[in-house]
Amino acid sequence: LINIKEIKRDFKLGSEVLHVLKGINLNIEKGEYVALMGPSGSGKSTLMNLLGCLDTPTSGTYILNGKDVSKLTDNELAEIRNKEIGFVFQTFNLMPRTTALDNVALPMVYAGISSNERKQRATEVLKDVGLADRMDHKPNQLSGGQRQRVAVGRALVNKPSIILADEPTGNLDSKTSIEIMNLFDEIHAKGNTVILVTHEEDIAKHAHRIIRLRDGMIESDERRSPVKAEKITL
Ligand code: ATP
Ligand code: MG
Repeated sequence: LINIKEIKRDFKLGSEVLHVLKGINLNIEKGEYVALMGPSGSGKSTLMNLLGCLDTPTSGTYILNGKDVSKLTDNELAEIRNKEIGFVFQTFNLMPRTTALDNVALPMVYAGISSNERKQRATEVLKDVGLADRMDHKPNQLSGGQRQRVAVGRALVNKPSIILADEPTGNLDSKTSIEIMNLFDEIHAKGNTVILVTHEEDIAKHAHRIIRLRDGMIESDERRSPVKAEKITL
């Protein structure tokens, strides 16, 4: 599904060049559940943004679903971002003046889906993420955990092949974090590929594979048996 060869990402800051990713090689198969860890500044978000086609590498190749991402037009990239990738952020990034239902429906607007079908699908997805009774609430009328559920619903609504989540529990308390991780476990169990960034070992334990970055390189890549969600206590 994901095939990355010798990816580098530099950032220019004035006359200085920052080498953030220094040659990443990585394969991720369909259906994997991956936790990306590493110290602050090691390049996790930079890598996630590349995986999500929100950014392009300075050098190296990224093959996603058999397509070389660097050879795609802007329109093709926008379509991949909208239909094949669901992104969840630490800070939720919801539209503030918009209901939960319309936040979830938004990616379907870009996908050109009719208003009736949008409403029907968004309603279903909100039920799936446990918000059947919060459809018409705006973000400021929801708790942090509920906001993140809306964001997860929005990420799922176009049935993407990959769910990327950059510290999805970073702004949540322990109990709410477990609830959100149970949701990611369910999403993975339905056959989705899930890649998430976390600083917490207990969160990473939900994944089948833990990749650690350090200074822009992969330090370790370990496969493991995931711990069942209900056995995890923070
Ligand atoms: P954290 O755990 O704190 O979220 P991270 O591993 O996600 O850290 P990144 O956000 O990927 O780290 O940043 C890695 C390095 O790249 C940092 O030194 C950061 O300042 C730099 N960086 C990231 N994005 C940019 C940018 N757009 N322009 C310049 N430098 C950047
Ligand atoms: Mg980050």
